[in-house]
Amino acid sequence: MKTIGLIGGMSWESTAHYYARINRETARHLGGLHSAPLLVSSLDFAPIAALQTAGDWDEAGTRLACEAKRLEAAGAEVIGLATNTMHIVAPAIEAALGTARFVHIADPTATALAEDGARTVGLLGTRFTMEMDFYRKRLEDAGFAVLVPGVGHTELNAIIFEELCRGIVTDRSRARYVEAIEGLAARGAEAVILGCTEIAMLVTDDDSPLPLYDTTELHADALVAAALPGS
Ligand code: GLU
Repeated sequence: MKTIGLIGGMSWESTAHYYARINRETARHLGGLHSAPLLVSSLDFAPIAALQTAGDWDEAGTRLACEAKRLEAAGAEVIGLATNTMHIVAPAIEAALGTARFVHIADPTATALAEDGARTVGLLGTRFTMEMDFYRKRLEDAGFAVLVPGVGHTELNAIIFEELCRGIVTDRSRARYVEAIEGLAARGAEAVILGCTEIAMLVTDDDSPLPLYDTTELHADALVAAALPGS
């Protein structure tokens, strides 16, 4: 199996879920005591979040591309970036890599949605993911109509940074997300993308009127698939 390199820490809460999922998925495929050969570069999120707020995507891209190169130099052949938002700088990372394969988080999500026949999808994530076009456009180019909540971006965004990224999960915030999903369903969404790697800590299929597509799980599974023997 190829070595997976994961650029994480954004936040570490979701990176912990990636770690568990990648290893479980590897064991599911290979059996026995198998687990994933995995290098994790877990960054301090505070300076990265400051660059997000400042809109300094060039500097953020330079730093994450540097981490990707370090992982490749250490032997990683498959690289994942464990946050939807920072895929804004995916082109900088891809340009920095040699032969290692970068697995974009939106791609396995699009594949799963297409397999299930969804065409109109709701997207929940940080304000960057919901408002900027780096993520929506990739989905639209894959043939989906993408809806984001009409109101409440600020509150949904604040729940991610002020609660979920700090390990805080509350019923009040869960209710706010369920309301947003209900609003997307009323506008014609057939499914909802949890387009932030922490949201599955808060809402699950049991809470939701629409099927949920958890980017953390889908991305982790895609990284394993790309690293399995014969892939
Ligand atoms: N993990 C989040 C995401 O998937 C939010 C944190 C970040 O801004 O990177 O977008």
